[in-house]
Amino acid sequence: MDKISVIVSCYNEEESLPLFYQEMERVRKKDFEGIDFEYIFVNDGSRDNTLKEMKELRQKDKKVRYISFSRNFGKEAAMLAGLEASTGDYVTLMDADLQDPPALLRQMYDYIKKDKFDCVGTRRVNRKGEPPIRSFFARIFYKIINKMSKIEMVDGARDYRLMTKQMVDAIISMKEYNRYSKGLFSFVGFNTKWIEYENVERVAGETKWSFWKLFKYAIEGITAFSTTPLIIASVIGILFCLVAFLLILVIIIKTLIYGDPTSGWPSMICVIFFVSGVQLFSLGIIGQYLSKTYLEVKHRPIYIIKETEKGEIDNTDKSQSENQYN
Ligand code: UDP
Ligand code: MG
Repeated sequence: MDKISVIVSCYNEEESLPLFYQEMERVRKKDFEGIDFEYIFVNDGSRDNTLKEMKELRQKDKKVRYISFSRNFGKEAAMLAGLEASTGDYVTLMDADLQDPPALLRQMYDYIKKDKFDCVGTRRVNRKGEPPIRSFFARIFYKIINKMSKIEMVDGARDYRLMTKQMVDAIISMKEYNRYSKGLFSFVGFNTKWIEYENVERVAGETKWSFWKLFKYAIEGITAFSTTPLIIASVIGILFCLVAFLLILVIIIKTLIYGDPTSGWPSMICVIFFVSGVQLFSLGIIGQYLSKTYLEVKHRPIYIIKETEKGEIDNTDKSQSENQYN
C-alpha cells in the first residue's frame, strides 16, 4: 500500500491549522481510499497556540506527527525537518493557510502514478490578492535570476509539490546551510510536471513575509545559485579601466594643445563619487558570497528540535546534532 507524507510548516498558524486538517481529511477520505497517510506538522517556533493545536490533533488522530523547533528557524528549515522525518513513498509540501489546495493532490498523485513523473509542482497563474508592487518585483526577480543562473526557476512556482521518495532523498542529501528550495528542487533534476491554478488567498491569519524579508530571500536565491554577480563586478571594473585610459589620453592631448588651466573640479568630484560607489557595490557583492561561505563553513545545524510526538528530544544525543530525527 502506498503511503503519502503531508508536510506542513507552521509559524503562528493556530487559526489555519485546524481548518487545514479538516480540509485535507475531507480530500483524503474522498479521493484517497486505500492509501496510507501521515501528517507531519512542523512548528517553526510559533508564539501562539500552534503547538497546542498540533498536540490536540495528535490526540485525535495517530496519523498526525509533529516536530517542534526550539525557535523560529524559517520555512526552509521547517521543510527540511519534515522531509527528513517523512516515511512515505510520496511526499508533499504544503502551507498551513490552504493557499495550496489539497483538492489538487489527487491529480498530482495520478501524474506520478500513471505518467511516471518523479515530481509534480504547482504554479499559480496569477497573483490575485497580492500587492501589485510585490508582484512587480517578483516578476523582475525571476527575470534576473533566470538570466544569471543555469538552474531554471519557474515564475509563480510554489513550494507545494508531490515528490517520490527518491527525489526527497536527493534533496535531503544537500546539506547546505543557506537553503533556497526553489533552486534545490530544480537542481536535483528529475521529471517535473507543472500544473497551474488560480491564486487562493489565505484562510486565516496573515502572511509572514514582509517586503524586506522577501528581498533578503531573493538575494539568498541569487547568491545560492549563481556566481554571475561576481563576474558583473569584474566586467564593470574592466570597463572603468578602459574609460579611465581613454580619458587620460584625452587629457594629455588637451594639455599639450591648450596648456593646463585648472578646471573641472565639480565634474571630478562626481566621477570620484561614482567610481567609489561602484567599488563599494562590488565589494558588497563579494561580501555577500563571503558571508554565505562563512555561515556554510561553521556547519551549524539547520534546525534544532525541542520536542516531537515521541516526547522531548535529548539534544546531548550525538545523532540529533546531525539533524537526524528518525
Ligand atoms: N512559515 C514557516 N516559518 C516562517 C514563515 C512561514 O514555517 O518563518 C510557514 C507558514 O506558517 C505557512 C507557510 O510557511 O504555512 C507560508 O507562509 P505564508 O503564508 O506567510 O507565506 P505566503 O503564502 O504569504 O507567501
Ligand atoms: Mg500563504
